[in-house]
Amino acid sequence: MSNRKVLVTGGAGYIGSHTAVELINAGYEVIIVDNLSNSDRSSLAGIAAITGVTPTFVEADCCDREAMERLFAEHDFQSVIHFAAFKAVGESVAEPLKYYQNNIGSLVNILDLMRRYERRNIVFSSSATVYGDADVLPVTERTPRKPATSPYGNTKQMAEDILRDSVAAVEHLNGIALRYFNPIGAHPSALIGELPRGVPNNLVPYITQTAAGVRECLSIFGDDYPTPDGSCLRDYIDIVDLARAHVVAIDRMVEGRNKEAFEIFNVGTGRPVSVFELVHGFEEANNLKLNYKVAPRRAGDVTAVWADTTLANEELGWRAERELTDTLRSAWAWECHVRNIKQ
Ligand code: NAD
Ligand code: UDP
Repeated sequence: MSNRKVLVTGGAGYIGSHTAVELINAGYEVIIVDNLSNSDRSSLAGIAAITGVTPTFVEADCCDREAMERLFAEHDFQSVIHFAAFKAVGESVAEPLKYYQNNIGSLVNILDLMRRYERRNIVFSSSATVYGDADVLPVTERTPRKPATSPYGNTKQMAEDILRDSVAAVEHLNGIALRYFNPIGAHPSALIGELPRGVPNNLVPYITQTAAGVRECLSIFGDDYPTPDGSCLRDYIDIVDLARAHVVAIDRMVEGRNKEAFEIFNVGTGRPVSVFELVHGFEEANNLKLNYKVAPRRAGDVTAVWADTTLANEELGWRAERELTDTLRSAWAWECHVRNIKQ
């Protein structure tokens, strides 16, 4: 079994492609499996252009038992990073079974194969959504989870529990759940980035598309929250910093430095930023004006959430490094790359 090989499920997607780059830069061999349900092959070309290495790519669905069994039989990776999942909160409310089937089904399949093929380490993409509307901020990993407010959020809570129970039952298995805060930005090369389909739900893609003229006007969802400027507070984490957190999580397990077989880490900056601050930060970083208006609150939004990152800082030896201004420049550079806009 090779401890330098990592299977990256969902590796053609936004976070997976950036993580593949950082894994390759750190000397890992990457095998990507993706069904391209929310991505395309351009990200694979981007990874190759940035690193000079073309990762092995298998087009398959992680819920497809036979295809995944073949993959495990053919490749001797010791570790898995499991990104593959659907992630649209609103869609998950309308089509819950699609989310339970894909997000839970794929994880169960992977864990069963890891058990049978004696693979050791798995990093799972969890989310700050598990904290819901927390009573105390910033949230630590010990902050109680709140009942999920969407089927998507529920899949993350259930998946954390499935992972914890599987790791407890299978002697050779180690797991780390990384709870991402709000990933934003793109690789500094502008060769990979986020490719939302249709109208973006997330703030930064909506901002960049508005700046590009694809959307007419950004709606700021609520200016009457109990925060300093009335808009919601979030912890926006640069995508390359987030990608690096996966590499250190894999290193930790490969080198046997994990203290428990199952661990959880917050991956954020520790700094709350309001929607207005982000919008004005984007304007200043890129020297442009954004068309925006204040709109009513969006259903389901929490007022504020940001990370206490002490555990990740001390245990993983990881911290967010990129300045928000640089991240917001990278988001715009990527949008310009996608739309063929001269900056
Ligand atoms: P993404 O949609 O860009 O990437 C997910 C990738 O998985 C896509 O390439 C998609 O084609 C693939 N995929 C989905 N189901 C699959 C399946 N059954 N088999 C094979 N491939 C499949 O999303 P992302 O933003 O990169 O998110 C990656 C992970 O991080 C997801 O689990 C997501 O829930 C989680 N997460 C994302 C955010 C965020 O804001 N982006 C925040 C917290 C957690
Ligand atoms: N938001 C907004 N306008 C948009 C999209 C998002 O004002 O078009 C706000 C949203 O209300 C939240 C913040 O931006 O306060 C981050 O939202 P996003 O959907 O990016 O991430 P979330 O924290 O909801 O997962």
